[in-house]
Amino acid sequence: MAKPRLKIIPLGGLGEIGKNMMVMEYENDIIIIDAGLMFPEEEMFGVDLVIPDISYLLERREKIRGIIITHGHEDHVGALPYLLPQLDVPLYATKLTHGLISVKLKERRTRSGINLKVVPPGGTVTLGRFRIEFFPVTHSIPDSVGLIIHTPLGIIVHSGDFKIDFTPVSGQPPDMSRLAQLGAQGVLLLLSDSTYAELPGYTPSEKVVGEALDRVIAQAPGRVIVTTFSSLVSRIQQVINAAAKYQRRVFPVGRSMTDTIRIALELGYLNAPDGVLARLDEVRGLPRNKIVFVTTGSQGEPTSALVRMANRDHRQLHILRGDTVVYSASPIPGNEAVIYRTVNSLFKQGAMVMYGGLEQVHVHGHASQEELKLLLNVVKPKFFMPIHGEYRHLRCHANLAQSIGMSSDSTFVLEDGDILELSPQSAKVTGKITSGNVYVDGLSVGDIGTVVLRDRKMLSRDGIVMVIIAINRQTGKLVGRPDIVTRGFVDTRESRDMLEESRDLVARTLDHGGERPADWGFINNKVRDILNRFYYEQTQRRPMIFPFMVKV
Ligand SMILES: [Zn+2]
Ligand SMILES: [Zn+2]
Repeated sequence: MAKPRLKIIPLGGLGEIGKNMMVMEYENDIIIIDAGLMFPEEEMFGVDLVIPDISYLLERREKIRGIIITHGHEDHVGALPYLLPQLDVPLYATKLTHGLISVKLKERRTRSGINLKVVPPGGTVTLGRFRIEFFPVTHSIPDSVGLIIHTPLGIIVHSGDFKIDFTPVSGQPPDMSRLAQLGAQGVLLLLSDSTYAELPGYTPSEKVVGEALDRVIAQAPGRVIVTTFSSLVSRIQQVINAAAKYQRRVFPVGRSMTDTIRIALELGYLNAPDGVLARLDEVRGLPRNKIVFVTTGSQGEPTSALVRMANRDHRQLHILRGDTVVYSASPIPGNEAVIYRTVNSLFKQGAMVMYGGLEQVHVHGHASQEELKLLLNVVKPKFFMPIHGEYRHLRCHANLAQSIGMSSDSTFVLEDGDILELSPQSAKVTGKITSGNVYVDGLSVGDIGTVVLRDRKMLSRDGIVMVIIAINRQTGKLVGRPDIVTRGFVDTRESRDMLEESRDLVARTLDHGGERPADWGFINNKVRDILNRFYYEQTQRRPMIFPFMVKV
């Protein structure tokens, strides 16, 4: 009989940035690590979110022992409100992560009774044949952990998202000695964060940002508006520290920022001297140089307070000449265009905007090349699989491993859905399962397919043409010339002749129908066909064409 193998299956986060989700399966036990979302790319029109396809898990529901969450970022927890109702298994996370998940589930009104369990960094849980140890790592959100997974076939180390910061603003520095111990014991497989595998050197400590924020806030003549991710709790802490030092008050703006600050205060991950944090309605009458706002919007999110302010669309807040706006975040690739649009509007309204390299007001939360090599060197895994990144990041990380002496046959660059099968001595990719994107559009999950996306893409690019065809109720013959109405396709005045010509074309086509009244399905197709070709020849565009029949 074949010996049981351990399967490692990424359902998301490999070959893309976001929607991280990893499955580990051994005989009758499955554990899931993270359940994240991805924000849609520009060509995914009107889709709000993207989450992993979990068909594989739904078919093996009875084997699933639990979901383990490494930290509270959206790309690790964001799919939970959509997936938990389908999976209904216990969830294990550290205290802050737990708090953030609870807020999220409440927001989405996901049915209560979800089994959420708190595990402290350093704590252990046993799920079936897996024993999982949470080890503290430094990252851009407190209470982040990596995982040491003891399996019947060997030890697996999952780095989570991490950087190696020996002077973190909150929490403890990474426990390198524990990892070294494991390295000496023997680690079967290392899964490690590749997000910044292209960056040489070391990622600077969060502490550097504190010094920069201090300088900016000390020198700002008027109000300061700091924009960052609401989950960057240590950054918010540093804003509070600097504000307090210069007798400024800090006003959280926007729901997600306000919620995170509240929960982080409650759970003890944020500390603010009395009277520093204030509600927005207390801002009246305060001198401008006593005010700091913290808000989301660093990625150009259209509904965020910052973007609204930039567009003069915020109910309470307007940009004033002399404001200083600090982007304490770097653009997530793909967001640059919308971010710079906001930056432009902010400048136009008289704000001083600090973004990009002007001051070190942001550092990454992910390890750069030297830190990645350090982890590989300390853990000394038999096999290595880069995770969390687009294909190029994964490849780059694999090359790093090879540069420090790992052989290419022990390094596995996988993509979502690939199955890596492990025995104590060997590893190989043995197949592929169904995986992919599930689109969340407003309240509906999963009923937007690629066809709908393609339609939306065509609509947005080439517009729409409606053809109204009047047919005689008795004879089934065309009455008059068809009408053509267009939106977003061509300038109807300039292209008048072309549109007229297309009306004639439809009329001529339908007149050829002979005596027998043609079937509507046939007319429909024929009209689309003929117009498609005609419009493409004339304009090189492919509008969506909708023929309508009116019986008269
Ligand atoms: Zn991440
Ligand atoms: Zn993260």
